[in-house]
Amino acid sequence: MKRFVLFIPSLLAVFPSLFIFFKNKDVIDIPFYIILFLLFGIGTTLFLCLLIFKFFIKNDSIAVVMSVIAVLAVFYYGYFYEIIITGFGNFSLNRHIEVILIWSGCMISLWFLAWRIKKNADFLCKIICIFTMVLFTVFLIFIAVDNVQKILSKNSKIISMENAEEAFSLDYVNSFLGYAPDVYYIVPDGYENASVLEKFFGYDNREFFSHLEQKGFVIIKNSESNYPNTLFSMPATLNMEYMDKLIADPSLDSLLVRKKIFEKSNVSDLFENFGYQYVAIASDNTSFSGDEADVRFGPNLLFRLFIKPTIFDPFSRRFRSRILNAFNSFNEASALSSPKFVLAHIIAPHDPYVFGPNGERIGINTGAAHSENDMKLYLGQLKFVNKELERAIDVILKNSIRPPIIIIQSDHGVSLPDSYGAENVQDARLKNLSAFLLPKKAENLPSSNINTFRFIFDYYFGTSFGLLENKKK
Ligand SMILES: [Zn+2]
Repeated sequence: MKRFVLFIPSLLAVFPSLFIFFKNKDVIDIPFYIILFLLFGIGTTLFLCLLIFKFFIKNDSIAVVMSVIAVLAVFYYGYFYEIIITGFGNFSLNRHIEVILIWSGCMISLWFLAWRIKKNADFLCKIICIFTMVLFTVFLIFIAVDNVQKILSKNSKIISMENAEEAFSLDYVNSFLGYAPDVYYIVPDGYENASVLEKFFGYDNREFFSHLEQKGFVIIKNSESNYPNTLFSMPATLNMEYMDKLIADPSLDSLLVRKKIFEKSNVSDLFENFGYQYVAIASDNTSFSGDEADVRFGPNLLFRLFIKPTIFDPFSRRFRSRILNAFNSFNEASALSSPKFVLAHIIAPHDPYVFGPNGERIGINTGAAHSENDMKLYLGQLKFVNKELERAIDVILKNSIRPPIIIIQSDHGVSLPDSYGAENVQDARLKNLSAFLLPKKAENLPSSNINTFRFIFDYYFGTSFGLLENKKK
């Protein structure tokens, strides 16, 4: 027991990363030995720190208690932050600073308290020891139950387009345009339709639209998405079919299955059959990581695993950098050899709001409360996204030897505050941005996301999927 106690700070320090890894292990494409190696590094470093600390304090129990508090302060800040923002509504700007101050205050008080009652350090140490053992036992049960559930639920039945199974030859494509165009599908997550921006935000998005139109884009005025959430909308669009058809058995529906058919879809399969490379630009690994693509640009998963729960996270600027990196990826992505299908999922103007209209820092603001202030922040971020989109389009066009197909289409709109009335809220959430740049002028562009690729394949690649009725779920 005495010896075991010395390992407690190390065990508690590696726990958050270990937990996140197992919770997301199906979507994380990092070998477990790399995780173990890094965790071992963190654990050993902490153990050595504890030995040095113990040498000066000359009391095992006090050294352990003080170290545990320090570990709590550094490695568990993320959980405290989550509790604060979900439990206390929406803080204003620089919320992290306020939360860090409260958290540091608590931890320093705890340190003093522990120092004052050092006579009881042995007792405290025992409690921490029991707590750690319970924590790891529950964790092991969690992993066991999770694995049993996976085995029981087996694989879900996901239909695939019959056409996707036969490979099309590139000649087929060539017969219409004379070349195989690069296809860019750019999804600015939660980008609202111009009519809603005008009506409820008092904002005229004309400047952005005229920039797009100058480049040859056609903007679909009354465009609509079919689902109000990313992980319904995107799989449906990219598999060209409604979700109830894609996942026939509702009991097999899960976040994981929906993510799977977003990562690798009928659309990406069809393009691969056409001889295209599949290029993914990801910006948050929760909804789309791009791991199934031939070439991937996106945030580092290891970073998320090890930094997210810690107090270093607010300083990592990951919310800003993941979006800036995604937009910058168009430089490299558009320079890759043709033909290619580039799927870019950019988690903006969706919250958290981290950019002002010119990209300036405004802190990290979650839009959970859907308040009037969130609307202002949303609009600011949208204006910045406009600028970045314009820049991305310029880069793509500059790097394209032959005219590409570029579609900018959001997966859904924004959430208005409840005070706007249920009907308006629902309506706004299902309206979206939809803009097409097409090599040869096409008529009757689809206004519903479900038909985007049915239209593109039928018109440019000679398939005969036909269009589906526009349904909103
Ligand atoms: Zn979304």
